[in-house]
Amino acid sequence: MDTVVIDGSTGEGGGQILRTSLALSCITGRSLHIENIRAARRNPGLAKQHLSCVEAACQICNGQSQGAARGSRVLDFQPGSVQGGDFHFDIGSAGSASLVIQTVLPALFLADRPSRVTVVGGTHNPLAPPFDFLCETFLPAIATVGFRGNCRLLKHGFFPAGGGRITFDIQPRQKQSHRIINLCEPGSQFRIHARIYTAKLAAHIAQRQQKLLLQSGLNIQNVEHIEVTDSDGPGNCVMIRLCGGERTTVFTAFGMRGKPSQDVISGVVHLAEDFLASGAAIDRFLADQLLVYMAILRAGCYTTNELSTHLVTNMEIIREFVDVDFRVDQRRKVYKVSCRPA
Ligand code: AMP
Repeated sequence: MDTVVIDGSTGEGGGQILRTSLALSCITGRSLHIENIRAARRNPGLAKQHLSCVEAACQICNGQSQGAARGSRVLDFQPGSVQGGDFHFDIGSAGSASLVIQTVLPALFLADRPSRVTVVGGTHNPLAPPFDFLCETFLPAIATVGFRGNCRLLKHGFFPAGGGRITFDIQPRQKQSHRIINLCEPGSQFRIHARIYTAKLAAHIAQRQQKLLLQSGLNIQNVEHIEVTDSDGPGNCVMIRLCGGERTTVFTAFGMRGKPSQDVISGVVHLAEDFLASGAAIDRFLADQLLVYMAILRAGCYTTNELSTHLVTNMEIIREFVDVDFRVDQRRKVYKVSCRPA
């Protein structure tokens, strides 16, 4: 069987290159040799979250790996055949549970029977999809083309304590589902809601954030405050949820010690404002996360408001595994990304 050789320092140079490579190796049955893992990160090489991704990939297909050790910058992975089942992974840190799930999700959708995946780790982490984004933005987007899953949050886990728990139920994709991803038209008549999570923090933090949200230029209709009592450590994140038609887009900013609430709120408000002003259909995070699914279907298109390095890098990595062409057309502030067989 041939081996795909991936340079982990390509473009964004982060963990996504590893996760996409593992996912597509499981799906295509092609072995993976990856070097320079996470070369562009402050702590290059495999961290706990990435080791869990490797372990998860091995478990779902009875695969083998060499080089899976903390800090390792080179990994070999030989996939076996993917089998659905009941899987449980404990990252052992606040590493993102969502990102471990996203590694195995595409292959498990193509398995012969349903799966349940439970991951212990961070559920609301900076630089990763928060649980709410997975549930409200990502899963509904892929459900439109027959990839059906349900997710449940069993326990919250914030950085740096971690210890959260999420469960995913995954149905095999119906073979007769012929629809393709077509997310090109922007939503309309958005209802704008906000959500504040605080855990083990003083009450005035959420009160101040709520006030700032309501003073922002966005027409926020209501602010929900979720006071988390089950987490191992403190945490704070603020979400703006744009609900239009059947689509919900969740933007998130994280509070942390020393970061004024003013900055947290202006960060998340800017994300939402830029998106709303652009006329694009999907945000830049969903944009990079949908590419693997478009590659599986060898078709699809969407519009987004930013050509992130995650997006561009992911297209490059996917092309190494699958014979697809991605095309990007720019019209003012909107990028249209389309996929077709090469
Ligand atoms: P990497 O930095 O290479 O580990 O990849 C991070 C992944 O997390 C990318 O797929 C991003 O789209 C995703 N991501 C980061 N921040 C967010 C966010 N606030 N909401 C949703 N997804 C996110």
